[in-house]
Amino acid sequence: MTRDKTHRIESTGNLAVNKRVALITGGVGGIGTAICRRLADDGCFVIANYAIAGSETRWQETMAASGINGSHSALAFGDVTDFKAMETMVRDINAAHGAIDILVNCAGITRDSTLRKMTPEQWHSVINTNLNSVFNVTRHVIDGMCERGWGRIVSIASVNAIKGQFGQSNYAAAKAGILGFTKSLAQEVIKKGVTVNAVSPGYIDTDMTRAMRDDIRSQIVAGIPAGRMGLPEDIANAVSFLASDDAAYITGTNMPVNGGMHMY
Ligand code: NDP
Repeated sequence: MTRDKTHRIESTGNLAVNKRVALITGGVGGIGTAICRRLADDGCFVIANYAIAGSETRWQETMAASGINGSHSALAFGDVTDFKAMETMVRDINAAHGAIDILVNCAGITRDSTLRKMTPEQWHSVINTNLNSVFNVTRHVIDGMCERGWGRIVSIASVNAIKGQFGQSNYAAAKAGILGFTKSLAQEVIKKGVTVNAVSPGYIDTDMTRAMRDDIRSQIVAGIPAGRMGLPEDIANAVSFLASDDAAYITGTNMPVNGGMHMY
């Protein structure tokens, strides 16, 4: 699959007056869409980034059904693995909608394989999309947040960053990298009013987990004390809190949201 390296902003809205502007990478995916809805409900102007033409259709339908129109939301096309494309995307968002106050790094993929069979492509695509992306986007928004004295970075990691997972050395390494990034950047910018946190989902019912075999899904659910997979809204609730004013004194943390499947 080839990703279009260009980018474009699509919106019927104007500058987001008196609203915090939130950019959600991977914003049209299962968890990303729930985050967009929640942050829009919280009063933000939300911008969903995506990278495959056509993948935004379900997001548009969901947002319209939730009554979230172009005055509250926009789409931004661009590949998070491309540093330059992200620079241009952020600049265009700033011009069209105002400065970004909240960044949610949510774009992610899996390319599972045991290491003995893993190809360089499987390794690099996961590190690029899940970890390098966090640098590629955060780098372009952090100065503005520091200058304005307020900002929120929330990155979506994974329970597997902490516990590891058979067949996911690439994914676990990328997600663990997010946790180190989070703790380090948090120390650099807290005095400027910017907090940096991670949320680590357990297994959440989205296309990513629906791609698993049924017997594996049942096995996973049997190991979750809550007795169910999480909902995208469970993750959105955590992001909403960390992105709020109430979380001003919380930084460098990793919030597990996993129904009790792994406590740490
Ligand atoms: P989805 O597959 O539904 O969404 C992933 C999103 O990432 C898609 O919207 C996709 O957009 C986007 N994306 C992928 N590659 C790129 C790229 N190069 N540039 C821009 N966007 C890209 O997955 P989920 O909603 O389930 O996952 C969201 C996040 O949560 C991921 O980081 C995932 O690792 C993490 N997570 C998920 C868990 C789960 O159980 N579902 C558990 C733990 C963590 P497009 O289709 O346009 O490329």
